[in-house]
Amino acid sequence: MPDYLMSAADCEAEKAQLQAELQAAQEREKEPVWIKGECPRGCGETLFVGEGGYVTCSFIDCPEPDAPHKALAAQRTEEVGG
Ligand SMILES: [Zn+2]
Repeated sequence: MPDYLMSAADCEAEKAQLQAELQAAQEREKEPVWIKGECPRGCGETLFVGEGGYVTCSFIDCPEPDAPHKALAAQRTEEVGG
């Protein structure tokens, strides 16, 4: 087999591998970042960083999934306001 045919095949294999690695990296980025702390609505330790960096409750029946974020925002405002 001529060299150029071999290298073309190698190139395809390498491309496929790179694509697989890229996909795996993207999958990893989708993993939620879990946070130590409980949902103010009593769901338990269900907090993670959701889209846009907001602390969100992951409990499916949570009455207010953005309550943790609101609580944090209120706390921050109090600190700033003094
Ligand atoms: Zn909750």
